[in-house]
Amino acid sequence: MSATPQSLIREDLLALSAYHVPDASGMVKLDAMENPYPLPRELVAELGALLGSAPMNRYPEADARTLKAAIRGALDVPADCDILLGNGSDEIIQLLAMAVAKPGAVLASIEPTFVMFRMIATFTGLRYASCPLRADFSLDVDAVLRLLETERPAVMFLATPNNPTGNTFARADIERIAAAAPGLLVVDEAYYAFGDSSHLDLPARLPNVLVMRTFSKLGMAGLRLGFLVGAPAWLEQLDKLRLPYNVNVLTQVAATRLLGSYPALAAQASAIRADRSRLADSLRAVPGVEVFASDANFLLFRIPRAAAVFDALAARRVLVKNVSRAHPLLSDCLRVTVGTPGENARFIAALQEAVTDLG
Ligand SMILES: *Cc1c(COP(=O)(O)O)cnc(C)c1O
Repeated sequence: MSATPQSLIREDLLALSAYHVPDASGMVKLDAMENPYPLPRELVAELGALLGSAPMNRYPEADARTLKAAIRGALDVPADCDILLGNGSDEIIQLLAMAVAKPGAVLASIEPTFVMFRMIATFTGLRYASCPLRADFSLDVDAVLRLLETERPAVMFLATPNNPTGNTFARADIERIAAAAPGLLVVDEAYYAFGDSSHLDLPARLPNVLVMRTFSKLGMAGLRLGFLVGAPAWLEQLDKLRLPYNVNVLTQVAATRLLGSYPALAAQASAIRADRSRLADSLRAVPGVEVFASDANFLLFRIPRAAAVFDALAARRVLVKNVSRAHPLLSDCLRVTVGTPGENARFIAALQEAVTDLG
């Protein structure tokens, strides 16, 4: 008898459903925390020329030293820490998980949070353990400390600002968790550009802390580039698992040039931040809506009959993310990415119509 997927593929994998990316063609796309702005105009022609002359017949720079230098030029990476690059930070989560996947090892996080932590734990044969945030999405540090004590995770991921809740966790709480963690603590700062905190300095002071960032939320989602900062002794081991040339030549060339204009990217992030507070005000004015505080480029809000509202928005060609079934604490919650002022206005108008229609 010949092999079938059912006979050959791991049972835990057969049981999973695939990460669903909805078709957004023709829609106002506010579901994936993308930066809504095109490249700064003055860069378009220059990038075109740079990419045109990039040596696509050759493998990219194996250690990506030029790109890493550009990252150091743009951001305060501690001098005694190394940088590991990933094809998006998703790849870095996977590298970390593979690296610690001894039999019985645990990957931990809080809930609700970024779904890839749990998914990648499953992919790599780790057990996933978590503890809930409080109902207002604040961090219950004592609950985290108990989780560390009982589960002894090899690695814990803490996203701050957190996705999909949008709130930031306090520096002192992160340090307490790091001090108590029996394994690694990975601080995921995917949304650093939209808030006021940075923990990039932590790995230089706390030996079990690594900081992960991505450029996806900063206007480069299509390039797929994330990075991890940490002590060389950790990154050296992770680098053994990294597939050679995981960051392709076009990404290396484009990101290096874009990081040379980091102030232009940061200015877009500041504009998005200002629009976030206007969008929050407009949302709050919609009857029945509760808006949660956000330091990210999205807002989480609660609205009666969220699933029906989501469908009504989609019918009006506005795509947000329905997270209402992702976790009990998120009941009736939707997540909307901050778009351009025009997109935000279309979203608010569609939401008002939806609420009126649903009565
Ligand atoms: C978006 C996101 C990432 C992953 O981003 P990549 O596009 O894979 O770099 C990681 N962590 C959090 C919390 C995110 O929201």
